Amino acid sequence: MKKARFPIQSVKLFDWWLGTRRQNTLSSLNPLQFSLDCEIDVQHTLKLFSHAVFDPEIALLRRKYTVFCPRCTHKVFKSNDIIENNELHCDNCGTVIKPHLIQDFTELTFELLKVAQPLESNYPNLHPLGGAQGNAQSLRISDMNRYINNDDDIRRLYDCL
Ligand SMILES: [Zn+2]
Repeated sequence: MKKARFPIQSVKLFDWWLGTRRQNTLSSLNPLQFSLDCEIDVQHTLKLFSHAVFDPEIALLRRKYTVFCPRCTHKVFKSNDIIENNELHCDNCGTVIKPHLIQDFTELTFELLKVAQPLESNYPNLHPLGGAQGNAQSLRISDMNRYINNDDDIRRLYDCL
């Protein structure tokens, strides 16, 4: 991560954050939670996550798109790269999700591919900010235009459609 010219402080926070996630959240990490917990700007956060996905030397995370049913929140579709632009059908309640609604109900999360090193001993001075930041909203595909801002690192996170 240092090679990608991120400030050392955000790399350390990222390491710390990954190392302190609960086991059951490691397959669906929410970048907005990192942003909230560590008080790091969302765009900077998404760049960090993008490099963690796409830099072959880092290859720390994998993207995961999950489409939820608008009515019953059942998981209708999952993918690591492409979301089909067809109608989707919820097996649980029978709702048909039209293609133009899919972006609104697709969450982007990230799966940790490597075990994070135990870090607390490495960074004795680094401490969570407060720790009572609460839960962040999920990151929706439909939010993307708000964050891309001509940034190719962020745009490539959203090349699923
Ligand atoms: Zn449903």
